[in-house]
Amino acid sequence: MDGILLNTKPLNLTFKVSAASTSEAYANTPEDLHFVQCGVSVQELSLALKKRGRSIKTSGASNGQTVAGSMSTGTHGAAIDYGSITEFVVALHIIVSPTRHIWLERASYPVASDVLVNRLGAERVADDALFNAALVSFGAFGFIHGIMVETEPQFLYEAHRERLPFDEKIHKMMQRLDFTNSPLPHGSERPFHFQIVLNPYDLKGGAYVTTMYKRAFTSNYISPLSALGGVVPGDDAPAFIGGLVGAIPDLIPIAVNALVAASYKPYSNVWGTHAEIFTNTDTHGRVLSSGIGIDPKDSIRVTKILFELNADAPFSGIFSYRWVGGSTATLGFTKFKPTCLVELDGELSDRSIEFCKQFWAMLDAAGINYTFHWGKVLELNQHSIRKMYGQNNINAWLDARKTLMQDPASMRAFTNDLMVDWGLDGIAAGERTA
Ligand SMILES: Cc1cc2nc3c(=O)[nH]c(=O)nc-3n(C[C@H](O)[C@H](O)[C@H](O)COP(=O)(O)OP(=O)(O)OC[C@H]3O[C@@H](n4cnc5c(N)ncnc54)[C@H](O)[C@@H]3O)c2cc1C
Repeated sequence: MDGILLNTKPLNLTFKVSAASTSEAYANTPEDLHFVQCGVSVQELSLALKKRGRSIKTSGASNGQTVAGSMSTGTHGAAIDYGSITEFVVALHIIVSPTRHIWLERASYPVASDVLVNRLGAERVADDALFNAALVSFGAFGFIHGIMVETEPQFLYEAHRERLPFDEKIHKMMQRLDFTNSPLPHGSERPFHFQIVLNPYDLKGGAYVTTMYKRAFTSNYISPLSALGGVVPGDDAPAFIGGLVGAIPDLIPIAVNALVAASYKPYSNVWGTHAEIFTNTDTHGRVLSSGIGIDPKDSIRVTKILFELNADAPFSGIFSYRWVGGSTATLGFTKFKPTCLVELDGELSDRSIEFCKQFWAMLDAAGINYTFHWGKVLELNQHSIRKMYGQNNINAWLDARKTLMQDPASMRAFTNDLMVDWGLDGIAAGERTA
């Protein structure tokens, strides 16, 4: 392997933020802020906040990722009106060269006082465009040492997972997030979290619909670990789908049905904090996970394409859908406002990868606009990236990288072959090697 791998896990301190460290112009109170080193896992952050009676605002389903890693690829959950992890990040401490480190926040959203920035010995950079570009930058903007996150008071989820007919009522919710007179547990009440899983081999049994409503915190509830005997209600397909190993095509439906029935069970009226509902689940086996972002109005068209393809070449896995609010990150793949994430989770095999490739080719042929999750299986080149995000956004991201990193040697150090292939290194071909 070319390059170096950094283990950031030992950088795992988290801090409350004092009034002296908070800008007087900050829109909220110091109590809302929490500062973490990059190697803190999302689950560790969640647990640290729980002790303070606070909570993160959203996260992915499993939370073993680091805060820096999940932010850098735009990791999301299913907070339909909120967005991804990037949306609660309000400042970054980044080492951009061997001699320079910066405190980066938006000019329009001041957070840290000079006391904090000076104590770190960092150079303050307050700029909305630079900050938005750095949010989703998959390691290209230097070494992110610290992240300031905005939190909220502890709350509870009231969670349900049920099987409902995959019919017009669900299609309406999928395409428009319109919950009027919905068959969900609280009818027309708009859920905080909405997610659908389709097992293509058991559609007659209905779609799996996970709905979570946000409720005020009370200590008067039974935590989900004891309620569900160890199965965590926020778990999604990657947590169990690795159990599908080497099924021959004719047996894929039977294998998928058996695994889903055993592992992904409906439940109702389960209550828990964010840290309890979304934990750090261990995965078993080798999992293929791919995710694309689309405009929700295309969700049924995309589903038809998936079923058409699946009829020819059965996928060893299932299809999941989550929805999140649009991203403020320049290259956030949740670019639609809101975005529907269509996820293919299955056995890691050449056949599964071929299925994904054919799926993406069919989306292209159908003229459907989509993006790829930066942290999952994807297929990009410099033309498709520009088609997905637009040349202006790509230019803004490249300009921001150059402005922040300044030093060509540092830019080279944080460039890999993939970035060169994607035309995202921003270094002239003749200058790629020192
Ligand atoms: C079991 C499982 C479940 C998942 N569930 C979800 C989900 O629910 N929703 C979702 O959106 N995604 C999900 N993912 C995808 C996952 O969130 C992303 O791949 C995430 O980016 C992984 O984070 P990581 O901490 O492991 O970082 P890595 O994979 O190590 O890094 C991710 C990127 O961040 C960069 N990076 C990491 N640390 C730093 C740093 N300190 N400074 C600069 N750059 C840095 C790396 O260079 C890399 O480009 C899941 C993945 C798995 C394995």
